Amino acid sequence: MIQSAAFIGLGAMGYRMAAHLPKTFETVYVWNRNFEKAKQHAAEYGTLAVELNQAVQADVIFSCLPTSADVEALISSIEIKAGSIWIDCTSGVPDSAKKLSTLFEQQGAAFLDAPVSGQTIGAENATLTFMIGGNTTAFEQALPAIQAMGKLIQHVGDSGAGFAVKAVNNMLMAVNLCAASEGLTALKAHGVNLHAALDCINASSGKSNATETILPQRVLNRSFPLTFALPLLAKDTGIAVDLIREAKLSAPVIALTQSLVQAANGTAEPNSDFSTVAKMYESWSKITIE
Ligand code: NDP
Repeated sequence: MIQSAAFIGLGAMGYRMAAHLPKTFETVYVWNRNFEKAKQHAAEYGTLAVELNQAVQADVIFSCLPTSADVEALISSIEIKAGSIWIDCTSGVPDSAKKLSTLFEQQGAAFLDAPVSGQTIGAENATLTFMIGGNTTAFEQALPAIQAMGKLIQHVGDSGAGFAVKAVNNMLMAVNLCAASEGLTALKAHGVNLHAALDCINASSGKSNATETILPQRVLNRSFPLTFALPLLAKDTGIAVDLIREAKLSAPVIALTQSLVQAANGTAEPNSDFSTVAKMYESWSKITIE
């Protein structure tokens, strides 16, 4: 029976996700490296800002850090509580999930890889998609806690499967973002009104999340709001490329997209949103996508 929950990592996603947990649990611990954020969360949402050692005593522990390396380092510094379920919402590395899942099992606990999609607005509205890998019994036990933050909650396979699905999803988003940026640059070069073009594309077969939301809401209006940092996208596309490599497959579109995202990340200003991939095309073509 799950009675207490904890959330570790109150970043752009975690801060908003953890805000929903007090609706389901009386006791919700929060911890953040910059502890001021944890205190602010407690004041805002009625959670309890506690030391890491106390947070990991909860029955169910969520984490949402930049990388699997960060999660592994944090877990190596704590004592795993027997019977607890760790739900890692980081967009992480499948092999790391397998390793951590074995470690938790040895301690009589469970580790689920549970990355999310839906961006910060989905975190705010508790409408995230969770793609979950790992032990099915732990998944079923943790479901009520996950439901506090998610809309579509899908168990996709054994340990690491959730991270794999997330990496491929973000790679597909990047493919579409690159392709749509190229397509709109070509249309602008031919004097086409891009808003009218997107109206047509979004009612036609070429539409994608890039044409429906990213380009109109972040690029054409020149807002590029920082909600999902470009280095995090580059990390995700890198995980997807590793999956291809490990399976000894050939995936030229994915490989090229990874190079493009890396190039964009290498030239972007610090603290750039992922949508600034479009700016790389603008600098090459001297055409503004607006
Ligand atoms: P942010 O950079 O906004 O937040 C990162 C959080 O991790 C902060 O709380 C930060 O603490 C903490 N942190 C960073 N490094 C460490 C460390 N070494 N040890 C302990 N804590 C650490 O990232 P996001 O919230 O945007 O992303 C988190 C994860 O979610 C990533 O894997 C990302 O790919 C994924 N994701 C992001 C989405 C988005 O739209 N932003 C959407 C879906 C998934 P501090 O405050 O002290 O810096």
